[in-house]
Amino acid sequence: MANEQVLTAEQVIDKARSYLSDEHIAFVEKAYLYAEDAHREQYRKSGEPYIIHPIQVAGILVDLEMDPSTIAGGFLHDVVEDTNVTLDDLKEAFSEEVAMLVDGVTKLGKIKYKSQEEQQAENHRKMFVAMAQDIRVILIKLADRLHNMRTLKHLPQEKQRRISNETLEIFAPLAHRLGISKIKWELEDTALRYLNPQQYYRIVNLMKKKRAERELYVDEVVNEVKKRVEEVNIKADFSGRPKHIYSIYRKMVLQNKQFNEIYDLLAVRILVNSIKDCYAVLGIIHTCWKPMPGRFKDYIAMPKPNMYQSLHTTVIGPKGDPLEVQIRTFEMHEIAEYGVAAHWAYKEGKAANEAATFEKKLSWFREILEFQNESTDAEEFMESLKIDLFSDMVYVFTPKGDVIELPSGSVPIDFSYRIHSEIGNKTIGAKVNGKMVTLDHKLRTGDIVEILTSKHSYGPSQDWVKLAQTSQAKHKIRQFFKKQRREENVEKGRELVEKEIKNLDFEVKDVLTPENIQKVADKFNFSNEEDMYAAVGYNGITALQVANRLTEKERKQRDQEEQEKIVQEVTEPKPYQQGRKREAGVRVKGIDNLLVRLSKCCNPVPGDDIVGFITKGRGVSVHREDCPNVKTNEAQERLIPVEWEHESQVQKRKEYNVEIEILGYDRRGLLNEVLQAVNETKTNISSVSGKSDRNKVATIHMAIFIQNINHLHKVVERIKQIRDIYSVRRVMN
Ligand code: MN
Repeated sequence: MANEQVLTAEQVIDKARSYLSDEHIAFVEKAYLYAEDAHREQYRKSGEPYIIHPIQVAGILVDLEMDPSTIAGGFLHDVVEDTNVTLDDLKEAFSEEVAMLVDGVTKLGKIKYKSQEEQQAENHRKMFVAMAQDIRVILIKLADRLHNMRTLKHLPQEKQRRISNETLEIFAPLAHRLGISKIKWELEDTALRYLNPQQYYRIVNLMKKKRAERELYVDEVVNEVKKRVEEVNIKADFSGRPKHIYSIYRKMVLQNKQFNEIYDLLAVRILVNSIKDCYAVLGIIHTCWKPMPGRFKDYIAMPKPNMYQSLHTTVIGPKGDPLEVQIRTFEMHEIAEYGVAAHWAYKEGKAANEAATFEKKLSWFREILEFQNESTDAEEFMESLKIDLFSDMVYVFTPKGDVIELPSGSVPIDFSYRIHSEIGNKTIGAKVNGKMVTLDHKLRTGDIVEILTSKHSYGPSQDWVKLAQTSQAKHKIRQFFKKQRREENVEKGRELVEKEIKNLDFEVKDVLTPENIQKVADKFNFSNEEDMYAAVGYNGITALQVANRLTEKERKQRDQEEQEKIVQEVTEPKPYQQGRKREAGVRVKGIDNLLVRLSKCCNPVPGDDIVGFITKGRGVSVHREDCPNVKTNEAQERLIPVEWEHESQVQKRKEYNVEIEILGYDRRGLLNEVLQAVNETKTNISSVSGKSDRNKVATIHMAIFIQNINHLHKVVERIKQIRDIYSVRRVMN
């Protein structure tokens, strides 16, 4: 590659003649003439006619042996940006392909690079690749940048530094990924010259001083190897390996090494015809000198991601110093120097075949370009290839010029959530390239995206989940809604739990103690009180479950208190407190679960004044208050208050057995009349017996079923209406 030497258009076209057909040369020549005409009267900062620049760019592309369209693109790369020529003009005058290449270069020229953050540099490189669409656009752009770097001295210092920075961060790494070492080194060295002139010239001078001494030693080594290689009839080319200024500089800065430590490390490169010869030469080297362990690298078997192939080894050289040796074929060397361009190099006649694999190659190169880590781990490399293969990205700008990487199909919502979730949540609109767009507007690489937000925004809309392409945005939108609903759920859950607590007859504030809440949290795995309510709100758990667990201690306490109360009341009856239902239709005041039965001695019926008597082991027997059996002093101590259940509370209408004794004048038909009277009151009779004494007094004993005291009164009154009846009374046994 001719450095600093200004080529004429004729020289460039002559060079192209070495590998292009006459027809293609005519095409390229036409492109030159078209460009010259378009740029007429334009001048560069150096005062030279503008056309000199496109000629040099085309010259660099010819050195790379590029195809006719790319060469034409080199000549024409600035016409759309800087002259009146349009893309349609180019399409018409040349081809769709040439127009596409020029359009690509023009677009890349509009990407403004500011930030010096590594992440931003990375995104910019990716953006370049994504935007270029055709790898040849990047090659033209690299040639353009190379010539601009060569002529940087004509620009003001500030511009020199900015362009040099951009070159180091964007273009040199791109050249490296494409494997075009030649361009990469020149870009780096030139950039360093403008960014750190002191160090640059210091290294240049040190290299000059050392050169003679160094070359002598290299010659010695080369002669030794040459002799042995020729002995086994292998044709080989030997050269000392040039060290590049920027790579020495970087090692000095990054590895904090002295110039001598880096520069004194000798390196020899051996080029041979075949892979077999590579390994043969390696064998000879390793026989001559002792290899240093761990320094042998076989990049022939395992090429680097940018297609670089070579054998590397370091041996202890003749003077006892380490000697680096690189062995590769001529073809591999070409690729090492020209990378993608070497593969791309235009071979007349092979074009049709090439075209078939064009697209395939293109995507492969793109993958290589996007492969970011210089990792030699093959698996990792394959992994990153796969990711890049399936993800199509767009690269867009923030208004400040930062590049944001998003999956293709992304919309402004993805962009705003990528910036910050708060910006996402407050988004009310978006501008793309200065124009208002809808939130489902698909972003394209190179777009400048501005998000409009409002403090008063209520938050994202539910449909945004569908509009967003990135899982990050979807996740954050869902999170927002979950959080919102959470607040509602906490509120709802709290109400439900409090209601259940009240249903269980407890005071909310007595139950909601930190200790009780902790118990619930432990049981159901909640981290705090709010989580507990939220879960109830979501219906993840019922309020009753929570309330039961919350009141567990209090309920046990209450049960215990009641047990104690019974014992207390049994030994020492207490006045009326709280009643409980009993089957007998009688309830014992203040005590539940106590066996109650009606005594057989006085047969109480509802309405009678009654009293309970605590028996030994048979519960409470209910007596009429006037029953003589409970009148004894001893009995008095075992009485407890009881009362009749209200009739409506007795599940089934119950009948009580009552015995009555009827006295009357013993005459014919009296018993019959009594039975008839009882029957008239719809009262069932269970047994009847009668006797008469010599004073003509008849005594009838009758057992009847009575519902309550009124019923009994009615029966008694009815019997008393019968003629010759003296008395009717309840019998007490
Ligand atoms: Mn240019």
